Amino acid sequence: MTDYFEIHRRDGPARIAELRLAEPVTTPAIAEAEPRSADGPAGGRRGTVAVADAGSLWTADRDLPEGNDDALTVLPHRGFPSGTDEAVMDSFAVEYPDVDYPSAAVVAPETAGDYGTDAYVASGAQGFVGHGAGFKDAVVELRESIPADSALYLPGVATPANVATLVYAGVDLVDADRAVVAGTQGKYLTTEGTHYLEDLSELPCACPACRTPVSEFTRADCAEHNENALRAELGVVRERIRAGRLRDYVEGQARHDQWLTAALREFDQQWSYLEQRAPVVRDAELAAATEDTLRRVEIQRFAERVTTRYRNRFDNPLVLVPCSATKPYSDSQSHGQFHDAIQFRGHTVSMTSPIGVVPQELELTYPAQHYDAVVTGRWSEDETAFVASVLRRYLERNDYPRVIAHVPPEGYREVCERVEADLGVEFEYTVEDHPTTTESLGNLMRTLDGELKYGKRERQHNTVKAIADYQFGPGAGDALFEEIRTESRYPKLRVQDRDGVQLAAMVPQYGVLSFTLAGARRWVDSEAPTKRVEIDAFAPHGSVLAPGVVDADDDVRVGDEVVIEGPEAFAVGRAEMAGPEMSESTRGIAANVRHVEEK
Ligand SMILES: [Zn+2]
Repeated sequence: MTDYFEIHRRDGPARIAELRLAEPVTTPAIAEAEPRSADGPAGGRRGTVAVADAGSLWTADRDLPEGNDDALTVLPHRGFPSGTDEAVMDSFAVEYPDVDYPSAAVVAPETAGDYGTDAYVASGAQGFVGHGAGFKDAVVELRESIPADSALYLPGVATPANVATLVYAGVDLVDADRAVVAGTQGKYLTTEGTHYLEDLSELPCACPACRTPVSEFTRADCAEHNENALRAELGVVRERIRAGRLRDYVEGQARHDQWLTAALREFDQQWSYLEQRAPVVRDAELAAATEDTLRRVEIQRFAERVTTRYRNRFDNPLVLVPCSATKPYSDSQSHGQFHDAIQFRGHTVSMTSPIGVVPQELELTYPAQHYDAVVTGRWSEDETAFVASVLRRYLERNDYPRVIAHVPPEGYREVCERVEADLGVEFEYTVEDHPTTTESLGNLMRTLDGELKYGKRERQHNTVKAIADYQFGPGAGDALFEEIRTESRYPKLRVQDRDGVQLAAMVPQYGVLSFTLAGARRWVDSEAPTKRVEIDAFAPHGSVLAPGVVDADDDVRVGDEVVIEGPEAFAVGRAEMAGPEMSESTRGIAANVRHVEEK
């Protein structure tokens, strides 16, 4: 239970939070040890968390410090170097008392748990930094053992180059010790690495310490610069979290150091840790800049849902087309031309790296219209293999009378040929040179001669059902929307039952459905998997705070549609926390309520 730490924004495992000292500090931030005085903690610099360390029990018996709101008090503790035997740790375990000021406990990955403090200091952190796998194991172990709404403090490890990756992994507090020590050794740190002072012809920085001419620049100046650089980088990182774009940044930043590259890849293997913390929809655009983008949760999740949840409902031939830089694809000039040639006689599916395949009904669904990639068609082997595996799984699940591949020769064609060979299916190719030449478009049009057109209603109903399958699970489209009417113009579709009662609306911004109360009741009564948040006896208006949550399904993710129910209310809304975090947290908004009915 924390009274002093509240999370405001999440971006994967990274968070923006507030540590409520007398002078509140926004985290991720720098923590700074403060000399102890007889009157207790005295507070720190603006934007910095002052830490009052009550000291180690190894060296002396210690009284419980008086503490106050000016600083984070580290309660008397016993740290262990990494690699200490677990039995030794157990026998020297510390009982942490309940205190009424901001406090921290010292834990190792093996001893971490809920000690009722607001923050947790990782002991032996220097030991696991520098090694990708060791760092990943330690942070995941720590983060999953301490309460979700508490701060994780990794002392002695941060540098301007690694701090973005530390925060991405789930660290909330760091200190400047390592950066300062490096400065006193004549190592000049930047976000892209280490320079030796004697090698620098100029100072590549504009911070106050670097206004000194390089010839007069001392190691003390260097230490000051290093700390400034760390602070500046934390500012960049916080802004990235607010924008929901830390991952894009870390993909680039981690390349400057091999252990960081290794750490990023290790985390990418840690699917459940990352997936639980990744929102299902976001406002931010996803920049597909590196090969690491293929392993992002958002990309893998889309591919997984398209190949295990989505089902094609059209009887027409499949027409594979290349993606476009313009999103949604149908707004692009090339897709306008494809559309004119196809004329509702084929089911259009776009092939793209890094997403895989995007059926026309899901072209608005996150992240299909939210990514930015270089559209060259020159794909790396990883990209080609990824798109081919998604297309193969897609075709294994969905039957088509014919497969027409209207794709350019490079990249796309190679993917198609691999899948043809794997599945023993023959594709019909319609592109001579480029997909938008008159000749190619003429081929496409003629290839579809004699195929029947589908109507607007079929198109709209299939879109609603496809989104429901994608969003709620396999079979959800039929279970929820077997007999419906659609109103209004795509993409602002409103879904009604046969009596005209509105059930849901399509949200064009994310390409998902949001329920009305009638829709939510139908959802609960249906065979489709529901996501539930159980609340105490109150009727929520606006939002449900975490302390009001009794229980929540483990598979609820940020951005998910949820049914919120308690003894006094039935409501529907959108999750603002993952299910496990809702059940565990004592502060913060768990879900936003769209409609509520009192019982
Ligand atoms: Zn500087």
